[in-house]
Amino acid sequence: MKKFLFGLCFGMVLSLAHAQQETPKSIVERYGQLRVKGNYILSQYGDTVQLRGMSMFWSQWMGKFYNPSLVKWLKDDWKITVIRIAMGVESGGYLDNSFEEKKKVYAMVDAAVANGIYVIIDYHSHEAHMNPEPAKKFFLEVSKKYGHLPNVLYEIYNEPLQDISWHKDIKPYSEAVIKVIRSNDPDNIVICGTRQWSQLVGEAAMNPVKDSNTVYTLHFYAASHGQYLRDEAKAAMAKGICIFVSEFGTCEYTGNGTLDYMATQAWFEFMDQYKISWCNWSVSDKEETASIIKPGAKSSGKWRPEDLTPSGEFIRDELWIKNGPLLK
Ligand code: MG
Repeated sequence: MKKFLFGLCFGMVLSLAHAQQETPKSIVERYGQLRVKGNYILSQYGDTVQLRGMSMFWSQWMGKFYNPSLVKWLKDDWKITVIRIAMGVESGGYLDNSFEEKKKVYAMVDAAVANGIYVIIDYHSHEAHMNPEPAKKFFLEVSKKYGHLPNVLYEIYNEPLQDISWHKDIKPYSEAVIKVIRSNDPDNIVICGTRQWSQLVGEAAMNPVKDSNTVYTLHFYAASHGQYLRDEAKAAMAKGICIFVSEFGTCEYTGNGTLDYMATQAWFEFMDQYKISWCNWSVSDKEETASIIKPGAKSSGKWRPEDLTPSGEFIRDELWIKNGPLLK
């Protein structure tokens, strides 16, 4: 009898362990509703959160990758914890085809939610402050649709250009869009673009927007932007803001040219040190260095090792090493 009971208990423990193994917690189950505190993003339970994942390419030009199978593949095979949906605004994007572009965004957000990962809804524009009404309309709709879900972050202005003003152009635009979002969603994180293709986080830190759950974007291309930009980030963080690298490349600022492993590695170390979340640019098969896959790779994922570009291999390795342990 004793032996039987022991066997029964042992069996139960084993099957419990097995069940746990079969259903690891998704990253959203683990971290829940995110919030900003000082330099950091915190989970609902107080952990410091560093998300790592992929950015999609402009939706109007790489729409074929905007499908649920691709999201599942990136979660399962690449171990992403966040995906950035880069909805093109100008140049044949949302302003011209709002129905089509929104459909792509919603398919991707729904897939991210189904897969338990975080998702950035990115208004991928270089001139959004010139035409704020469509942005307000868009974010009113998405915050109403998704604001109750912990998965969603709103990136309201991808890359403001150089020759405008944070104080007079970008900040007022940001506050107007945030006001609209907050009318539906009091708490999900907003990501603000900064001047000069989202590099000059320092001037935003000196005059931040009035919203407690807002972070600021820093974008870099490792072969072009090095220590001086990390110094800019450090100085901004010393003033108290939280930075999110919603887009970076392993190569030159053009998205092409040299793949610089050492320079990217220096950025990985920096981002790990300060728990800065990141998305790599990009999920694309365009023939350029930043693309993670070669032309002709399947749009649904299921890539073979030989489908990956050198940048794709490098980024996937980093995701496996850093995110892998979180997803067990
Ligand atoms: Mg919310």
